[in-house]
Amino acid sequence: MLMTLKRIVQEVNQVPVLHDALGLLVKRVKEAVEVDSCSIYLADYEQQHFVLSATEGLAREAIGKVSVGFSEGLIGLVGQREEPLNIDDAPSHPRFKQYPEVKEESYHAFLGTPIIHQRKVLGVLTLQQSGSRKFSQDEEAFLVTLAAQIALEIYHANARQLIATEGVVDVKRTQKSVLGIPGSAGLAMGAGFIPDRKVDLQSLVVSRCEDEQTEIATYRQAVQQTREQVAELSGSLEKAIPDDVRAIFQLYHHLLDANSLGREVESKIREGWDAASSLKMVVESYANQFRNMDDPYMQERAIDIIDLSNRILVNMLSMTYGQAFMTRQPEGDCILVAEEISASMLAEFPKQYLRGIISMRGSNNSHAAILARAMGVPAVMGVSNVPMSMLEGKDILLDGYSGEVIVSPGKTIRKEFAQLIQEEQELSVLIDAQADQPSITQDGCEMALFLNAGLSAELEITQQSKGDGVGLFRTEVPFMLRERFPSESEQYELYLSVLRAHSGNAVTMRTLDVGGDKPLPYFPINEENPFLGWRGIRLTLDHPEIFLVQIRAMLRASIEEPNLHIMLPMITSVMEVKEARRLISQAFYEVSEEARAQGKKLEMPKIGVMLEVPAILYQIPHLARKVDFFSVGSNDLTQYLLAVDRNNARVAQLYDSYHPAVLSALNDIIKQSNEHGVPVTVCGELAGEPGGAILLMAMGYRKLSMNAHNLLKVKWVIRSVSLMEAKDLLEEVLTLADPEQVKECINQFLEQMGLGGLVRAGL
Ligand code: PEP
Ligand code: MG
Repeated sequence: MLMTLKRIVQEVNQVPVLHDALGLLVKRVKEAVEVDSCSIYLADYEQQHFVLSATEGLAREAIGKVSVGFSEGLIGLVGQREEPLNIDDAPSHPRFKQYPEVKEESYHAFLGTPIIHQRKVLGVLTLQQSGSRKFSQDEEAFLVTLAAQIALEIYHANARQLIATEGVVDVKRTQKSVLGIPGSAGLAMGAGFIPDRKVDLQSLVVSRCEDEQTEIATYRQAVQQTREQVAELSGSLEKAIPDDVRAIFQLYHHLLDANSLGREVESKIREGWDAASSLKMVVESYANQFRNMDDPYMQERAIDIIDLSNRILVNMLSMTYGQAFMTRQPEGDCILVAEEISASMLAEFPKQYLRGIISMRGSNNSHAAILARAMGVPAVMGVSNVPMSMLEGKDILLDGYSGEVIVSPGKTIRKEFAQLIQEEQELSVLIDAQADQPSITQDGCEMALFLNAGLSAELEITQQSKGDGVGLFRTEVPFMLRERFPSESEQYELYLSVLRAHSGNAVTMRTLDVGGDKPLPYFPINEENPFLGWRGIRLTLDHPEIFLVQIRAMLRASIEEPNLHIMLPMITSVMEVKEARRLISQAFYEVSEEARAQGKKLEMPKIGVMLEVPAILYQIPHLARKVDFFSVGSNDLTQYLLAVDRNNARVAQLYDSYHPAVLSALNDIIKQSNEHGVPVTVCGELAGEPGGAILLMAMGYRKLSMNAHNLLKVKWVIRSVSLMEAKDLLEEVLTLADPEQVKECINQFLEQMGLGGLVRAGL
């Protein structure tokens, strides 16, 4: 059964048009289970009904015509109950409703199962048989498994269809929206821009075209160009390649022959598809045939066919869009769209055009989102349900508060957006005007606000507020941007420039925290569970040579500017602190000697640890004796306390620093730290949020560290409230049982204080 299921799903996945794919699916299922009928009804939420979308065994003419209300008949019942329904005699069931157009009079046995994606019923898959019988447990299990497997495809196809309508004939230019995860607050408007666009058949969305002559000519010309490129490539490799690789080039030539691939592609073009879509359809079906062959050598050839076709595709697209196609530069307001936003990508992007960011992968606390927030650029993350290529060049409105991305917007919404953006700008003028004021509440509670820096090298230094120092300098980026570990002197130069930029104020530098979602290109770590793996201090203690070079560079810099604090990430046990301190002492001894030789003196910096792994919360009394300060990493603390990967869009709704368990832990940490007299800062993203900062202040935290952009907002919030009001809010929040209630309560408070514009669009 498993093999049959796999085969069906694989085969169906290759069909690019949803309608055709479902047609094939019901056909294959009917054959495999040997039933009289198999059908799929897809949900239409606007109309509140299911539409018969594919069938083998019911009347074909009814496809797309028959609809069943969400609360009607057996189909409606399956949708409502969200579970399979297996009945031996459907017509005698009280919920049975006859739809004469589908011609199901002769059927009695009925098995229906819902197709569900992320808790939403997308459709119903049914089997029917003329005899009266219960479907077996095996058949039921088969159908449920199949429904679960096709749910994602249907969901993707729906999203794709939403955005792609522009490319399809007869469909007007209409506004569509997709929902991602809010990554960085704010609104933005601009044209979708993919910097390193990788065009391939897989992500291509099929579209129709009437002009068959031009499409055929384009295809033929692209094939000719590809033939020349392949000839050139095989010629240049003539002597260097073994025979089996040469055989691949022969296969390429054969496929490029007009009688092979060409005939079928051209016949698709004549059916009304454009050249690229035709190529995709033909090639995917070929590749699938190869994949299904028994001979592993032939299976591998599927890759060659796809590779070759991608070359043809690139040639075709550059013919249509011109040479600039692959190497355009942004012009005008852009929304940067990428599979995964990286620091280097942002560094290269011309800032004057960057209005917003869409990251296909990642979630609200991925480092890419943290980076976007640090730059004050609105961002939406985890928009994985739309192929990236569909956003290219499209007019986009992006709402970083709600995570909504509106593609090809209508006039009215555009106007509304422009108005809200204008209001945001007015608010930021108000906020900036208080930049030089002290961060002190209405009733005199002083808060020290520090900067989080380092994620984007030079990006944050340009911000106007320097805060009371640096609470977290992430040192990973210089390591990530290179092709090798940076040398001691490269690190020394960088650290010295940071210490100097904040001369007289404390700068807390965190030792290397790679792993998790921050891999090093030249030091691959392949792990099933990177956030639970070799990360932060675990990695650097295993590689003292890397750790020592970094500590030496920091200490040497602090000879010139003695404002350095050193912070250790991902501490799970006291032993790690002991070991790290031993290495730091060793480096201190060496660097002190060097300083003395130059007639200078090195002070021992303060050493602290991040509180971000839950285990350590139970070790605070022991830790307190070993360190000079604590800093709460609420991003990871949330991730580990709630067991939710901060980088996984699928569980993004569960990741929430306002979860009562997280708030309770934070409340506990400040009490314990005060008891043991250890200074403590919060440097996770929560500290930089208006609501988060108020709650932390009410708990007793007096030091918060955040990106420069949020620092001014938080200062504004602190200056607008009193500690008393904040404590009342906290008291109420701590009685609440779920994060949504907590956020609701905070938002009400902010609205009352006239601070609502900080957490939603508009004043
Ligand atoms: C944290 O975990 O809260 C933190 C500040 O560190 P990072 O986000 O870099 O893991
Ligand atoms: Mg962390």
